[in-house]
Amino acid sequence: MPAKPKTTNCPICGKPPVAAYRPFCSARCKQVDLGRWLSGDYVIPGQPVPENDEEES
Ligand SMILES: [Zn+2]
Repeated sequence: MPAKPKTTNCPICGKPPVAAYRPFCSARCKQVDLGRWLSGDYVIPGQPVPENDEEES
């Protein structure tokens, strides 16, 4: 088996990462990932997001 490449692509969109935002490719992707963990929501401007009502208030 070949060794894994050192570079891990952006987990959000799969693009090569930018040093300033590693392992993400941009501030937006970083925010998207943070948003997932913090709120469980997917906040991606310009992209429709299905609503998951797992928690009822
Ligand atoms: Zn990205």
